[in-house]
Amino acid sequence: MDLNRDEDKDARLARIKAEYLALSAELARLRERLEASKAKTRRLRALMEAVERGLGIPEQECQELGITKSKEKPDDLFLKFRLQGLIRASDSEEARLSDKIDSLERLTKELEVCPECGGRGRIRTRLEYETMEGGIVVPKIEEKSCGLCEGKGRLRF
Ligand SMILES: [Zn+2]
Repeated sequence: MDLNRDEDKDARLARIKAEYLALSAELARLRERLEASKAKTRRLRALMEAVERGLGIPEQECQELGITKSKEKPDDLFLKFRLQGLIRASDSEEARLSDKIDSLERLTKELEVCPECGGRGRIRTRLEYETMEGGIVVPKIEEKSCGLCEGKGRLRF
């Protein structure tokens, strides 16, 4: 069964829009995780500062961070060592999330460019060569407004 032009266009736009919305949702999730990761790093650095000033860490915080390995109260050197490890892990999680967000943002921008006309807003309908006087061949190009993006070059969702 052949689809007529409009149905074909609507189906293509719907497919691109679905992809765009899925990417946007994933981006929102990743940005939320990045914020949580940044907050965790800030908290860890504040705890490190407290340990360095000899103030220690409340036992509850130790438990939440999974630092307590035994019933004994961990000493400052042990706390610093564990905190350093947690800060490094949190930093690399942030870097990983930022990279992923950057690449999804690029993909999202690419999806906004009309695939039919490549962002030009116009489509070539005919390309012929005309031989001029003296044997010079010049291309004769006809263009029309792109039907998918209606000449805008970009898709808006
Ligand atoms: Zn277009």
